[in-house]
Amino acid sequence: MAEMTLEDVQALGEKTLADNGCNAENAAAVARTMTAAERDGAHSHGLFRLPAYVKGLREGGSNGDADPTVEQIAPSVLRVHGQEGFAPLALERAKGPLVKLAKEQGVAMCGLTRIRHFAALWPEVEMLAEQGLVGMAMTAAVPYVAPAGGREALFGTNPMAFAWPRPDGGVLAFDQAGSVLARGEVMIAARDGHKVPEGTGLDKHGNPTTDPAEILDGGVQLAFGGYKGSSISLMIELMAGAMIGEVFSFEAKETAVPGCPFNGGEFLLAIDPSKSAGGAFLEHGEKLLGKIEDMEGARLPGARRHANRAKGGPVEVSDKVLAAIAAL
Ligand code: NDP
Repeated sequence: MAEMTLEDVQALGEKTLADNGCNAENAAAVARTMTAAERDGAHSHGLFRLPAYVKGLREGGSNGDADPTVEQIAPSVLRVHGQEGFAPLALERAKGPLVKLAKEQGVAMCGLTRIRHFAALWPEVEMLAEQGLVGMAMTAAVPYVAPAGGREALFGTNPMAFAWPRPDGGVLAFDQAGSVLARGEVMIAARDGHKVPEGTGLDKHGNPTTDPAEILDGGVQLAFGGYKGSSISLMIELMAGAMIGEVFSFEAKETAVPGCPFNGGEFLLAIDPSKSAGGAFLEHGEKLLGKIEDMEGARLPGARRHANRAKGGPVEVSDKVLAAIAAL
């Protein structure tokens, strides 16, 4: 492992992307997302992702010059046209209009289209909660996950995130894949020769396996929580696909280049609870959150990441990851 400051992580991300065809604005936005992931100890979405972003620029048709635009298509509905670029710049551009609309209307949604989302979802819901809003986000992917009882990949690893504002300016946030493990976790386990938990996936013959290499070699991942999680993945496909005029995971596969970020959509929802509940919602929410914080053995989702964030770096980055980046 090598120790790096957050400034070094940002600079390495920006330079590597700029050297490989990203304009300065896109390179900085993607690097901010990777740096935030490293800062929060979410390494599977940190610099580990950089080689695949570069592969997307070189071979996967990702548009390093994307200039995302935001359009209001109904009184409380926005659409972002992502121009086949990486999601971070599209999300940064969506933030201001979405916050403004949610505060005017009480609720506003945003469909991000033609983007390549290759990151965690907590940055976008946290940016909404930091503005006093409740945020929800969902995105599909490419097919890695079989529906409950099935053996063929149909759903993406479909993450869903939620954030709630707190009185001290902090946020509660959860962000979870629809699969037992995120794809990146399966890839890291395969790279490092570790087993994955039972229930993570099936091999290419449809047999349960704890060997990540067998899951990646023609096998499938499984949704968390059996048929209940499978239904949540189904909902995410519909919300981040048909509902915003975008592709399902199995449709995204048609244009996806293996190992590269793929095209798709993201559903974002922002709600202003001061409109629906009045000013007391923050204190009321704290009563519930405080009970979890005070309960032995329990913790709030996001607490691990936020504790890492409070340290402010430096962070440890794998030598293997840095060697792969140096080759770029
Ligand atoms: P985890 O299972 O590691 O964590 C899911 C959530 O549960 C986190 O909010 C985590 O908080 C919380 N949590 C974990 N342990 C506990 C606990 N004991 N008590 C309370 N809360 C807990 O994440 P996943 O592997 O499911 O997903 C990883 C990432 O992958 C996500 O950020 C997701 O957005 C991303 N992803 C992106 C995709 C894409 O296409 N862009 C596809 C699939 C996934 P904490 O972080 O504080 O531990």
